[in-house]
Amino acid sequence: MGIFIRISADENAITQDMARKLTSLCPVDIFDFDDDGQPLIIKPEQEDECILCRLCLDAAPAGSLAIHKLYKQETLVSTGQPANG
Ligand code: SF4
Repeated sequence: MGIFIRISADENAITQDMARKLTSLCPVDIFDFDDDGQPLIIKPEQEDECILCRLCLDAAPAGSLAIHKLYKQETLVSTGQPANG
């Protein structure tokens, strides 16, 4: 778990395709995916590497992904389109 950043996801709102997309988008390798089980994996050891580029937040369905800035009590939330919309 990150000291400065914690990332959370609504597993029901992130499809396997979206998990693949997020994995390829993130420049610091925070995400991974598992085709057989939990689609989106957030690597706790990588969370503090987040550079707040917002690529994941722009892509993930609105409200499905959140980046918590633990050092200033602020949360950024995804704003992308729903997977089926
Ligand atoms: S904001 Fe950028 S660096 Fe942080 S998790 Fe999202 S894609 Fe990765």
